[in-house]
Amino acid sequence: MLKDLKKYKGFLTVYGHGNVLNALQTAMKHDKISHAYIFEGNKGVGKSTVASGFAKMLTCTSEDQPPCGVCKACLMSAAGSHPDILTVRLGEEKSIKVEEIRTITKEVYLKPYGAKRKVVIIPDADKMTEQSQNALLKTLEEPPSYAVLILVTQNASALLSTILSRAVVVRFADLSERIIAHYLEDHFDTLTPAHRQLIATICGGSIGRAKELAQTLDGDDFRHEATAQLAAFYQNQVGSHADFAIYLKKQSDFIDSLLTFYTVLFRDMLYYKEGLKDKVINTDLLEKISSICEQLAGRSIIKAVEGLLVAQKRLAMHTSFEITVENLLLALNI
Ligand SMILES: [Zn+2]
Repeated sequence: MLKDLKKYKGFLTVYGHGNVLNALQTAMKHDKISHAYIFEGNKGVGKSTVASGFAKMLTCTSEDQPPCGVCKACLMSAAGSHPDILTVRLGEEKSIKVEEIRTITKEVYLKPYGAKRKVVIIPDADKMTEQSQNALLKTLEEPPSYAVLILVTQNASALLSTILSRAVVVRFADLSERIIAHYLEDHFDTLTPAHRQLIATICGGSIGRAKELAQTLDGDDFRHEATAQLAAFYQNQVGSHADFAIYLKKQSDFIDSLLTFYTVLFRDMLYYKEGLKDKVINTDLLEKISSICEQLAGRSIIKAVEGLLVAQKRLAMHTSFEITVENLLLALNI
């Protein structure tokens, strides 16, 4: 991976995906750039980062291994202000409206301002309405010679087959634990090695998720508060369940990281109960872990972990937040 970083210096922030970068750079070298690409892969694996890097490469003015990262065009791309790189925005209703596509496609037919190419990036391309996709199709059928469209999506099958057939589909694999661990070492050196390893294992190959988890686990306040709230819940005083439900709702923006943290905390409790204190990750929370453990049997802890995993799955499928929290409380309340 370090070799990849050196080779693709203008892509500095890309972790992994050496095969994709290599293919794009080879296409560039042999002047075989397609008019449309679909970057497909799971959330947070680096599709958008590579799309920006690719746009940078296509608009860089250096002859020697673009993107050079230092020419005026590269600096403008990095600042998000290159006039020949257009990015489609999601509408308020979380869909890409036909008006937005029409505005962008009109722009595409205006010659590039300075670069040899004009690049359009469509993040969340599957959020295009059918009408939007049809509007885009016209440009894909007769693209100006200099145009390159990059559609970024978690799910290419949500796109019309007529769009799919006119684009090169580039598949982004989930990242390996080794690459995620490298990323965490570079960006979160304050985390303990045990925390970093744990995140690399549970983030599902997504740098985006690893970053979220790292930011959460890196914050002592967040972990201490979350643990205190859980301890209060298990003290079973009047109102403690309602208070805990309110706490979870307040954390709705970070709920995935919070539930992951609780999963780790329950795992620590299991080790603690087994007398394997050296396996506990949150060593600074031992006192609280011990007090919660006193109220829980081993199988209750396992039931709680199962409840947390189910809740995370439901939230990922956009099930009602309230209902998910209610079910979670039932699973924890043993
Ligand atoms: Zn450059």
